[in-house]
Amino acid sequence: MSPPEHFSDGLITAAYGKRGRLLTAEGTEHRFLLKGRKLKPVCGDRVRWSKAATGDTVILESLQERQNILQRSGRKGKADVMAANLNVVLIVIAAQPKPDFFLTDRYIATAESMGCEAVIIRNKADLSHKLDDSTEAEMRNYAKLGYRTILSSTKDNTGISDVSAALQARTGILVGQSGVGKSSLINALIPTAAVAVAELSVGTQEGRHTTTASMMHSVAVGDGESGWLIDSPGVRDFLPYFGDIRDIQAGFIEIHKAADECRFANCQHMREPGCAVKAGIETDAITQRRYDSYKRLYHMTDEAKLAP
Ligand code: GDP
Ligand code: ZN
Repeated sequence: MSPPEHFSDGLITAAYGKRGRLLTAEGTEHRFLLKGRKLKPVCGDRVRWSKAATGDTVILESLQERQNILQRSGRKGKADVMAANLNVVLIVIAAQPKPDFFLTDRYIATAESMGCEAVIIRNKADLSHKLDDSTEAEMRNYAKLGYRTILSSTKDNTGISDVSAALQARTGILVGQSGVGKSSLINALIPTAAVAVAELSVGTQEGRHTTTASMMHSVAVGDGESGWLIDSPGVRDFLPYFGDIRDIQAGFIEIHKAADECRFANCQHMREPGCAVKAGIETDAITQRRYDSYKRLYHMTDEAKLAP
């Protein structure tokens, strides 16, 4: 075994099963093999690696502590970790398919619980004539709550530079319902994305990795420092996992803010007297629709399991 001083720092840029690629501090990319079976690296992980006896492949020795993780609700309600160390979650909606704002709210709550910025992108700006009023009202409400909103179109390049600017010097991920244009946005942001995925499948001799691999692509940002976009087909329209009811409460910023004024410190904003959240709905500080999202998510999540 190499002595610790021979370990170097790296960043995971592709992960599939027990293999993947990492970027060294010097800027070179290597395929890696895992040192131990217990290691489960994901894109965005900071790692320590060492040289193998032969060849170009390196040995992944250990994972560094993660700042945050993106978790999907996996089989049997268990959490799957899909990416680590994110700064921004880009949530895409469009005039078509009809937006599911409960899903949007869940993605926003995920971003909040991870300490990430949530950016809401309304793609297919060229189809704005097909928008219904409620979508515009929801976009205005998200902006009012303080979220960055971007109007984009991959047909005429509207807003693409705003999307890349949101990734400047940061790591992000694109999520949203199927059909809103996430793949098209990835191709607009990263001209080489499709090529990178093709190379990956050639390199491993196993085409199926193209569907399971998650990859991190560098995104050029005008004159600014480039950013990173993590992409994986399994992530694009994932259902978020919440491990703690408090993450749900903190995930709705206007509810979280109002909660300071609730009579009970542990108010769940359901049937308690003196609830400032309920009062906030009356005064329009909190929309009924956002409150309904909160309530639905709250009831959906296994309360017994989440009780502190
Ligand atoms: P994904 O499922 O979210 O990855 O969506 P895709 O990128 O596969 O796009 C779904 C469909 O929407 C495709 O037919 C795209 O050509 C179309 N699409 C994507 N972006 C736009 C856009 O900005 N405007 C219009 N009109 N169609 C778009
Ligand atoms: Zn309350």
